[in-house]
Parts: sequence; C-alpha cells; structure tokens
Amino acid sequence: MEAGATSRTLLLSQGYEPIKVISWQRAITLLFLGKVEVLEEYGHDIRSVSIVIKVPAVVRLLRAFRRHAKPVKFSRVNIYARDNYKCQYCGKKAAMHELTYDHVTPRSQGGRTEWTNIVTCCYECNRKKGGRTPKQAGMHLLTQPAQPNWVPAVVIRISTRSVPDAWRDYLYWTGELTVGE
Ligand SMILES: [Zn+2]
Repeated sequence: MEAGATSRTLLLSQGYEPIKVISWQRAITLLFLGKVEVLEEYGHDIRSVSIVIKVPAVVRLLRAFRRHAKPVKFSRVNIYARDNYKCQYCGKKAAMHELTYDHVTPRSQGGRTEWTNIVTCCYECNRKKGGRTPKQAGMHLLTQPAQPNWVPAVVIRISTRSVPDAWRDYLYWTGELTVGE
C-alpha cells in the first residue's frame, strides 16, 4: 500500500456532501459494516489472505448523517455570513474589512448585543446612522435580523497538491470544501 494521498478516503454524507477524510482502513471497515457504498476507487488493490479489493477513494454513507446541531456562534463573522456580506441599510456588498456591525437599537437606548439587534453595516451607513434608531435616522433595514438556524458548513482543509483526482468531482460539486494552500 502506498503512503500519501491515496491512503485516504473521502467520506460523503448520504446527500453527497463531504464530511471528512478518513483512512482507507476505516473506509473498508465501514464498507464491511454495510454503512457505506464505494463511489470511486483508486487503481491499486489491497490483498489479504481471503480478499482482493480496490482501495476506496470516495465512499458515501447509506444512512442520514446526523450533524450535531450546535447553535451558530454569535460572532462578527457569522453576522456577516448571515447578512451575506451586505450592508443591511444600503445593500452594498463588501469585503469583510470594509464592513462593520451596527446595533439597530443603539446601546445608549437599551439595545442589546444579540442576533436580533446586530446587523452588517458599511462604515458610511454606520456614520450616518450614529447613535440613533433606524426610524430616528430615517433609514430602513433590508431584513429584520434574526438568529440563524443554519449549521455552519463543514470545512475540510486539504492541501491542493494532495487532493486525489478521484475526489475532485465531489469537492467542487458542493463547494463546501475549502482547499487550502
Ligand atoms: Zn451601507
């Protein structure tokens, strides 16, 4: 068995989303337990006394994978993600460093720092609004801020150099996978 990228198997959910990278040994175990099906194989065999099997490159879970539904962390970056990197007053879409956040009801007027009172805002609108409510400032929110109910995408970091060809269709298809370096 070669070492390196081809000793790893990409595990997909039942819905074809990448979940994680596992060892081929683990993939074989899941296969024999009847938990996965093999979608892609590497070119070489694994031989043991009784079996010859191709090394699985991509396997898919046959049953629904229950992701632990943790609530989305209240953070600046998740606020931006919820608001799609758009100023919630003028609708301008901007890079993270051009954005700030705004207390809809200012803290000076009892506004709290929570999902329902914080929105993504460009610096210009933030200055214009100042310490006022949108109504006092004559500004309108594009959407009423709410606590998001999505679960952040699973991010698997893999070096581009080590991504086996057999994985590529699955990685770029969902766009969920961050390929680093
Ligand atoms: Zn703006």
